[in-house]
Amino acid sequence: MSYRKERRVAELAVQRAALLTQRVFHEKAKGTLSKDDKSPVTIGDFGAQALIIHAIRRSFPTDEIVGEEEASSLRENKALADQIWRLVNSTKLEDEAAEEQIGGPIKSQREMLQAIDEGQSPGGSRGRTWALDPIDGTLGFLRGGQYAVCLALIVDGHIKVGVLACPNLPVDDSAPLSADVANESGEGRGVLFSAVLGSGAKSRPLSRGALEKSESIHMKDVPNITHATFCESVEAGHSSHSDQAGIAKKLGITGQSVRMDSQAKYGSIARGAGDLYLRLPVRADYQEKIWDHAAGDLIVREAGGHVTDVEGRRLDFSLGRTLKENKGVIAAPKAVHEHVLDAVRSVLDSK
Ligand code: AMP
Ligand code: MG
Repeated sequence: MSYRKERRVAELAVQRAALLTQRVFHEKAKGTLSKDDKSPVTIGDFGAQALIIHAIRRSFPTDEIVGEEEASSLRENKALADQIWRLVNSTKLEDEAAEEQIGGPIKSQREMLQAIDEGQSPGGSRGRTWALDPIDGTLGFLRGGQYAVCLALIVDGHIKVGVLACPNLPVDDSAPLSADVANESGEGRGVLFSAVLGSGAKSRPLSRGALEKSESIHMKDVPNITHATFCESVEAGHSSHSDQAGIAKKLGITGQSVRMDSQAKYGSIARGAGDLYLRLPVRADYQEKIWDHAAGDLIVREAGGHVTDVEGRRLDFSLGRTLKENKGVIAAPKAVHEHVLDAVRSVLDSK
C-alpha cells in the first residue's frame, strides 16, 4: 500500500497544528498546567491535539488514536478551555484546498474537547492506530528551543507513516548541528519530515498553507566513527548523560554531544545533520511512550538507519501505549549500528 492519502492528511494536519504551536511559542504566557506525573502541558499541546484528531477523524473515522493528552483538566477549567478554543478557532492553513483536506474548522468548543478525548485508545497489535504527540519536548518548547509535533500511523503493530514538524530546526538539511541548537529559533527555520514504509524519507520547509516541495533525505555515511556527532536529550532525567558520555568515549568520539529536546533528534540524524542518537535509560521501571518514538523511528529507518533499544531489539509498537519490551533507544546508520551497540553493551556491562 502506498498510504498516499494518509501521508498527505498527516503532513497537512501536523503543519496546521505546528502553526498553532508557533503562536503559543511566541506568547509569554503559555497556559501551563502540571499533569499527574508532574510533567508540564500547555494550551499549545491541547490545541494541537484537537486540530490533529479532528483532521484524522474527517478522513479515517474508524481509526484508533493514541494521543498523549486528555481533556479532563480543561472541563474543570473554563478559562483555560476558552483560551484554547480561541486559538483552535483561529488557526487554519492559508491554502483553502489544503485546509479542506483536513476537515476545515472544528465547529464548537464542545467538539474540540471531544476531539482531545478521542486520543485514549489502548493501542495494540491489531488494526490501524495513530500515535500522536502534539508537542514533544514540551520542556524545550517552554525554554524557547527545540520541540516537535509528531504523528505516526501504526497498522497491525508496524509503523507505516511517520510525520514530524520541527518548527525550530533550520530549513537547510545540510546545516551542521551547532551545540546551541537547543536554544535556537527564528528566521530560516521550520522543517516537516515524513516517511512511508518502503518509500523513503523526505523533508520540506514548513509552510503556512499548502505543502512545499520535498527533498529526499538520507543519513550520512560514517567512515570514521570517532568523527561522529551524537545527539541526546537536554534533560538528564530522560536519558543518562553519563552513560552516553561513556559510550562516546568508548567509540573514540571527541566532539561534544548535541543536546536537544524532542524527536528533532531523529529528524536531525535522518537528514545527516548528526549521526547517532543515544537514549540510555535513567530508571529501570520507565516505559517509553509510543508517541515519543513512532514517527522518528520510521523516518530514521527510511533514511538508511537502524533503530533499536540498548539490547539491539527493534522498538515494538504493538504492545499498547508504551514500549514495554524495550529499554532506551540507539539510532545509527545501518553500517555502524552494531559497532555502536557493542560500545553500549560494554558500558552497561561494566556498571
Ligand atoms: P526528550 O525531549 O528527548 O528529553 O524526550 C521528551 C520525552 O521524554 C517526553 O515526551 C516524555 O514522555 C519522556 N520522558 C519523561 N520521563 C522520562 C524518563 N524518565 N525516561 C525517558 N523518557 C522520559
Ligand atoms: Mg513527548
